[in-house]
Amino acid sequence: MVTPLRIAVTGAAGQIGYSLLFRLASGGLGDRPVELRLLEVTPALPKAEGVAMELVDCAFPLLSGIDITDDARRAFDGADLALLVGARPRTAEMTRGDLLSANGAIFTAQGQALNDVAGDDIRVLVTGNPANTNALIAQQNAPDIPAERFSALTRLDHNRALAQLALKTGTPVSEISRMTIWGNHSATQYADLSHAVVSGRPALELVDRPWIESEFLPTVANRGTAIIEARGSSSAASAASATVDAARDWLNGTAEGDWTSMAVVSDGSYGVPEGLVSSFPVQTENGGWRIVPDLEIDGFSRARIDTSVAELADERTAVRKLGLI
Ligand code: NDP
Repeated sequence: MVTPLRIAVTGAAGQIGYSLLFRLASGGLGDRPVELRLLEVTPALPKAEGVAMELVDCAFPLLSGIDITDDARRAFDGADLALLVGARPRTAEMTRGDLLSANGAIFTAQGQALNDVAGDDIRVLVTGNPANTNALIAQQNAPDIPAERFSALTRLDHNRALAQLALKTGTPVSEISRMTIWGNHSATQYADLSHAVVSGRPALELVDRPWIESEFLPTVANRGTAIIEARGSSSAASAASATVDAARDWLNGTAEGDWTSMAVVSDGSYGVPEGLVSSFPVQTENGGWRIVPDLEIDGFSRARIDTSVAELADERTAVRKLGLI
């Protein structure tokens, strides 16, 4: 019998969790059975129980077990994959320091618990915001887990960029490759079309600079806000879908000749200071990844990458000052 993939999901009773868990259980990562560990804060445990009841009612053939807990060590025990979705949302009166500090408490504790009890093949993907810096905090608090096992989600930005380019060029998304998101999962992120290919042609032959600057980049960067305005609540289903895409490609590999965007611990590539968790063009294979090397970066891209990376460096300085790493 195939051993189930043990997946811990934090913030399991939240909006993203409500979409994500069903995608994981219905085969979103492939045809291997899955065991779900739902981690929540104590007050949200009854809600997590309700979600688990619905998961049971779906009678998913691949779902081999569900556990619900408020104990991170129990949720992460022997886990192969940890999807860290739960995070402290920013409220109006909070300063940036308050936000980093509240999330720091969550991600230091979760990093330590992962370090102590996770499975040898653990992979940790952080969706909860500020995702890059939360991933950095967890990684720095898990010294026994190789740094390359941590990543933060920029796949939603990547997918939004693919979708906008597909709409503009009248091409199916499946015909587009080599999209890249650089930097932080924040308004400073940079969606780079320089290397993108649309039906075998360079994207830059099909779209012009004014469209990129005045429509494409702002639409991708501000899409979350636009969805909140339209729907009255945040883009949870697409965030869950992107989390599934990111985990699936990490475990199963990117397509030949293509790449994806993942925020990973920098090795200094492309001038991104070593150790920052920043988004890069990444190819994956056999559960590992490598940053796509030697891409040409023009002045327009350089300035935008530098701005986003500077923001990440500021966040790292702030969490260092707070003693979180
Ligand atoms: P959501 O499920 O909507 O969001 C969870 C996190 O994902 C937030 O940090 C959110 O950031 C982030 N996120 C990333 N991309 C997106 C996107 N495109 N759209 C929306 N969110 C995105 O939040 P809920 O408040 O519904 O649920 C959070 C759950 O986490 C709660 O049930 C809470 O109890 C739980 N929690 C659990 C913890 C634990 O397990 N130890 C710790 C803390 C919380 P942003 O805030 O910027 O929208």
